[in-house]
Formats: sequence, C-alpha cells, structure tokens
Amino acid sequence: MTDQVDTLFTRIIKREIPAEIVYEDDLCIAINDIAPQAPVHVLLIPKRQIPRLADAAESERAILGHLMLVAGDISRQLGVDEAFRLVVNNGADAGQTVFHLHLHILANPKDSKQFSESDTGI
Ligand code: AMP
Repeated sequence: MTDQVDTLFTRIIKREIPAEIVYEDDLCIAINDIAPQAPVHVLLIPKRQIPRLADAAESERAILGHLMLVAGDISRQLGVDEAFRLVVNNGADAGQTVFHLHLHILANPKDSKQFSESDTGI
C-alpha cells in the first residue's frame, strides 16, 4: 500500500483486525464505529493512508470526491438519506484519534429532528 506504518484502519482493511464492514470497494471501506455516538455511526475510510484531511494532496481529489458520493450511497443503503451528518475530525485538538482520514456518518433514524451536534461527542 505505502511505506508508512499501517494504521488501525489499514489493519482492518487487511482483515488483521475484525470490524463490521458495511461497504467496501477498491478505494474505500465503511465499518460500524466500535463506540457509536448515534444509532447509526459508520466510519468511511479511504484505503489510501491519508493521515488528516489537511494532508490530502491535489492528486487525491478523486478519492475525496468518491468518499462523498459513497457517503450518500451508504446513507441510502442504511435508510437514513433524509437526515444524516458527516463529520471529519482534523488534528488531535479537534478530537482526531486515528490518523488515517475517515468520515463519520451519523444518523438517528428514529428522531432525526432532534439530532444535533450536541447529541454526540464527535
Ligand atoms: P476520530 O476520533 O475522529 O479519529 O475517530 C476515530 C473513531 O474510530 C472513533 O469514533 C472510535 O470509536 C473508532 N474506532 C476505534 N477503534 C475502532 C475499531 N477497532 N473498530 C471500529 N471503530 C473504531
């Protein structure tokens, strides 16, 4: 993949660590978060190890766009396309703990109107 040390998410992609996979293609994988902050809490992760969103290069424009389209696909797959949030924590001070870019897909299908940022620690 790269000469970088494998991240937790790369180890999940390589099936070295188990995870609940909800979607996968050549470029990305989506898993259920191990400590969900909402009834639906999926992590959408590029297979390429980009540490932080701010580290993404021009050459990664396509994968970044792909992640956005896949987020929509997953929201439809999970039946939450009418109300969901996407969160990216960039940097430790913003709460990033795994330095491999990932999008949090968060939704509360039962009561989406009351679903706000204050409901989660994300
Ligand atoms: P962040 O704090 O934005 O870096 O998000 C990292 C996320 O990874 C957190 O929401 C964790 O709960 C989640 N996480 C950590 N380890 C695992 C794991 N083994 N499987 C699934 N999610 C994980």
